[in-house]
Amino acid sequence: MVILDASKIVKIYGKQSGAGSTTALNGISLTIHKGEFIAIMGPSGSGKTTLLNVMSGIDKPTSGEVKISDKEISEMAGEQLALFRRKQLGFVFQEFNLLDSLTVKENIILPMILEKKTANEMEQKVLELARLFEIESILHKYPYNISGGQQQRTAVSRALVNEPSIIFADEPTGNLDSKSSAVIMECFEKIVQELSTTVLLVTHDVFAASYCQKVIFIKDGLIHSYIVKKGSRKEF
Ligand code: ADP
Ligand code: ADP
Repeated sequence: MVILDASKIVKIYGKQSGAGSTTALNGISLTIHKGEFIAIMGPSGSGKTTLLNVMSGIDKPTSGEVKISDKEISEMAGEQLALFRRKQLGFVFQEFNLLDSLTVKENIILPMILEKKTANEMEQKVLELARLFEIESILHKYPYNISGGQQQRTAVSRALVNEPSIIFADEPTGNLDSKSSAVIMECFEKIVQELSTTVLLVTHDVFAASYCQKVIFIKDGLIHSYIVKKGSRKEF
């Protein structure tokens, strides 16, 4: 089942042509299926973040279209886009982006409150995810009192509560040591395997990318090449 279909995406920053404009994406097409676990890699400035932002509706392409679950998101705006993103998409960032005034549990629950879920549903979901990611013991702590790895597991839980069809993660291990990075990548691996969630991440981290099934290399705003992993990942 196709979850995301991006077709001939061009993104030009600044004036449409001439001096002062930057072509960040040069006509990228990409199809992502349900349950895929994909990393996008490439040199700094190659267009990775722009691609992620355009595919997730954070930014509009200059031309081309993006469909998620058969809905044309590049045409959506305002409340319609906000609603779609809240229901269908999950986001994980390098900086975790947790609210410091809320506990871990409250941070995780927040997107469900906006979706008007019942108290019972919210409680169950938080416990299910906290168990999956082993953060039960910190649910009542505040983000500044837990480790970076725990903050990122909280952020992954928050991204999952409304059962999105795809998770977008921009450098999710960028602020983590190698041990916590491995734990976060194992979390993504778990949700791909156990919940059939689709995960798309942008990373500089080759060890993080080694967890993914497919690695797409971007260069100068175009797909340069990709590799698909056969068999399971082995550690030495
Ligand atoms: P990457 O994530 O691979 O480092 P980016 O998508 O951030 O690449 O950037 C691709 C190109 O577009 C770079 O040349 C960058 O300087 C430029 N760029 C990114 N965002 C903007 C922006 N908001 N305004 C102007 N240029 C931008
Ligand atoms: P990263 O490589 O981690 O994505 P960048 O420093 O390339 O970080 O970009 C951070 C943000 O700054 C991007 O999301 C983009 O919107 C913006 N940006 C990047 N390059 C430019 C630029 N040349 N002009 C304006 N904004 C930019």
